[in-house]
Amino acid sequence: MKIRDILAGKDSTGVVSIAPDASVAAAIAMLVRHDIGAVVVASGDAISGILSERDVLRAAAEDAQRLGTASVRDLMTSNVVTASPEADIQEVMHIMTERRFRHLPVVEHGRLCGMVSIGDVVNALRRSVEDENRHLHAYIHGTTR
Ligand code: AMP
Repeated sequence: MKIRDILAGKDSTGVVSIAPDASVAAAIAMLVRHDIGAVVVASGDAISGILSERDVLRAAAEDAQRLGTASVRDLMTSNVVTASPEADIQEVMHIMTERRFRHLPVVEHGRLCGMVSIGDVVNALRRSVEDENRHLHAYIHGTTR
């Protein structure tokens, strides 16, 4: 299974993004409004970082006062790891496990075209196991269900 297949199975394929000079308060409101764990930080088409709820929590633990004045640029991770839509799900699981993050922006021909979260990966795997079970059941019993 490829990232392209995971994106195709998602209800919404839009990527929620925010500008680097936006306030952290605006980013938090965006995470809550969209019920997501990370936003891509972008200026125009160029990805400049990623801000996850973990970055916000870390900053809150270090200096809660700072959250009121900080901008997204101050808390984001700048070296963003991305994946191609052609990447295999095994590869994505490896990256997420090794690097210890749960979000992977998807880039094709230099353009941001999706976001895959660890939840999307788990859902895709679950669907694939269910399909396989259905096919095995049909094969063994000569029926479909
Ligand atoms: P997460 O587990 O995705 O909430 O993020 C954990 C940490 O990894 C945070 O500091 C994020 O900014 C960072 N992070 C998340 N996704 C990526 C990514 N694709 N590339 C680089 N850093 C990331």
